[in-house]
Amino acid sequence: MSKIAVIPGDGIGPEVTREALRVLDEVARGDSISLEFEEFPLGAAHYLETEEVLPDETLERLEEKDAVLLGALGDPRVKPGVLEKGILLRLRFHFDQFVNLRPVKLYDGIPSALSGDRRGVNMWFVRENTEDFYVGLGGRVTRGASRSDLVLKRKAYEAKFDIGIDLKDEEEMAYQIGVITRGGARRVLDYAFGLAKSKDLDLVTSVDKANVLTEMYGLWREEVAEASARHGVPSEFQYVDAVALHMIRNPERFKLLVTPNLFGDILTDLGAALQGGLGFAPSGNINPDGVSMFEPVHGSAPDIAGLGLANPVGAILSSALMLDTLGHSDAAAKVEEAVQDVLRDGEHGTPDIGGTTSTSKMGDAVVERLAGTSR
Ligand code: ATP
Repeated sequence: MSKIAVIPGDGIGPEVTREALRVLDEVARGDSISLEFEEFPLGAAHYLETEEVLPDETLERLEEKDAVLLGALGDPRVKPGVLEKGILLRLRFHFDQFVNLRPVKLYDGIPSALSGDRRGVNMWFVRENTEDFYVGLGGRVTRGASRSDLVLKRKAYEAKFDIGIDLKDEEEMAYQIGVITRGGARRVLDYAFGLAKSKDLDLVTSVDKANVLTEMYGLWREEVAEASARHGVPSEFQYVDAVALHMIRNPERFKLLVTPNLFGDILTDLGAALQGGLGFAPSGNINPDGVSMFEPVHGSAPDIAGLGLANPVGAILSSALMLDTLGHSDAAAKVEEAVQDVLRDGEHGTPDIGGTTSTSKMGDAVVERLAGTSR
């Protein structure tokens, strides 16, 4: 029995989550999998009513679950960041979900952002989720606080700007420090190479900028080489700028990319564009030994909330990712296949890809395909 916490959340979150749950019910019934759902009404409405974002008592109840399925968070009535930081980031850190897993697959029937036949777009992103430039180490040095290393800077300014510069103003600086720890790199790389092995992928691409940020990504590279040897899976090193170029020119070459936090953030959005847009992109925030959380990549999309226009595929594929991570890989494959069949047919498509199918009709189509019937 897998115990799933469901947080439908805000905006289109409840609409797309409803369809994901229907699909999960259907596949669980067909495959005799036992899934137990408990819904948690966290999000904007709950916050506006009670001023509670994520009560400690709720967090304790979530600790007893095997996974969390989340719709979306964010509402124009609530200051940006309150719900995102208070729920999403708090859960991510509380459960130490150090892997951000993002499959980027372009299914048949979805228009590609790229020209030509790009059917081979099928890559996994494993993004480190806790370190790098996200550790919150930074500050500002204001005038007079630290002069020594500013002398050189001043010379550069003089050369460049000649006269008329307020040097006191120019001296102020801000800095943000990135951190890679050996343990932090090792655990995400072990996950990435382990995943490559379990999916029969014969190349892991490590993304970094080791030619400039030599210290942090030098250490990262040492760990990549060791993880590659440990797991017996070949690897290559690529600079982030080259990866961006290849993702457009020949995305088919990538199978699994493992990235430090910041580069992963940027490249996975490029990945979402390659797979047909935000409506199709699933994700998981994973702690392999703890409580993982699965959610579509898109946000609450308040502009289309409640209108039945939202594409539920990202949420449905997130639930498949959850099944896979919980060990129900056959059921996960069935859900993915049903989604692929529906999209390939071309009869159903939500407005984000120019179709007229509503959110619930898209869910119907996937459920019916799973049940082995068609309309
Ligand atoms: P957030 O700040 O909550 O992440 P955002 O403004 O970055 O949100 P989203 O809410 O994810 O972005 O979406 C941006 C736009 O993309 C939405 O306003 C909506 O028009 C469209 N969109 C997002 N998700 C979907 C979806 N599942 N189906 C259809 N359109 C979508």
